[in-house]
Amino acid sequence: MSERILLSSPHMGGYEQKYINEAFETNWIAPLGPNVDEFEKELAEYVGVNGAAAVSSGTAAIDLALNLLGVGTGDSVFCSSLTFIASANPIVYRGATPVFIDSEWDTWNMSPQALERAFMEADSEGKLPKAVIIVNLYGQSAKMDDLMGICNRYDVAVVEDAAESLGSTYKGKKSGTFGKYGIYSFNGNKIITTSGGGMLVSDDLEALKHARFLATQARDTAKHYQHSVIGYNYRLSNVLAGIGRGQLEVLDERVSQKRAIFERYEKALSLIDGVTFMPELEETFSNRWLSVMLLDPDKIKISPYEVLDVLNGENIEARPVWKPLHLQPVFEGCKFYPHSEDETVSEILFEQGICLPSDSKMTFEQQEKVINVLLNTLK
Ligand SMILES: *Cc1c(COP(=O)(O)O)cnc(C)c1O
Repeated sequence: MSERILLSSPHMGGYEQKYINEAFETNWIAPLGPNVDEFEKELAEYVGVNGAAAVSSGTAAIDLALNLLGVGTGDSVFCSSLTFIASANPIVYRGATPVFIDSEWDTWNMSPQALERAFMEADSEGKLPKAVIIVNLYGQSAKMDDLMGICNRYDVAVVEDAAESLGSTYKGKKSGTFGKYGIYSFNGNKIITTSGGGMLVSDDLEALKHARFLATQARDTAKHYQHSVIGYNYRLSNVLAGIGRGQLEVLDERVSQKRAIFERYEKALSLIDGVTFMPELEETFSNRWLSVMLLDPDKIKISPYEVLDVLNGENIEARPVWKPLHLQPVFEGCKFYPHSEDETVSEILFEQGICLPSDSKMTFEQQEKVINVLLNTLK
């Protein structure tokens, strides 16, 4: 059988080895070291923020952000519903309760009107959330002006989950730089990877300093081991940061490759009545981390699950859209605010969506194969 065509897998640029070798030659295998410092500096410069703290995962970065915002037991945190569960798990780690907000059609991300209703209700109950986690799905930025406007009006801090949108922009500003904190992930399937890793970014350098302190077991300044607060082992290792530095050099190239993959799918498949693709909001630029299409059940008789089976039979990896978190058994009973009274956008996207192979290593011929299988299956 031919080689499996993957959804999104690590794609090294060739520069990574240089930085890893440096780590070995200088014996900086231990956690922390020059690659960590440089990776933080280079990423902060790339996205245009004052500073960054390299950590072991995107999830750890969200956990630190919530910690820095003082989220704790009894608090609530608003969070996009249509996302990977890692966006919301740290809310529970902090002992707080998630409240889920639906998507809207233009970006598939957090609906400003649903957020507004959630805030109005929370305000009338006299209990505003401690933070709002806004996710930028599959590379597409959320409507940041509208969402930030609402959060600023209520004076509630924003954590921007840009795990999937590194390299994307909203009105010329890099995704992940709108809230008090932004987070990125370098997990193996993301647009650039360190095999596992993440980054917390902010303009508040004091807060980032505290984040690094918490992420290294919260060691007080003393000759002996002394601790006044509970810390974490969340830092990124110097070897992995070396991979990250090499990957950062090819990030823009990866964005171009991902966008070209999307454009080829869209050109070939949107000719089919009932097939549409994830939109790109005006004045935004998506990294198109994954190419995602919707199948209108009124026009296409085969279901997304059957299409996934056909693709899998051809050794092609594809996935459904994230299952909304308000539908997850683990979050049963959590509050949820739909886009409108008669429409829950995230559920429709979940029911109709398919994430297509978007691997930047995929050859033109491999993508042709995917397209041909889909043309034959959907027509
Ligand atoms: C991948 C991802 C995360 C978590 O990142 P890890 O590095 O895997 O912990 C968080 N949010 C979203 C939206 C993601 O896709």
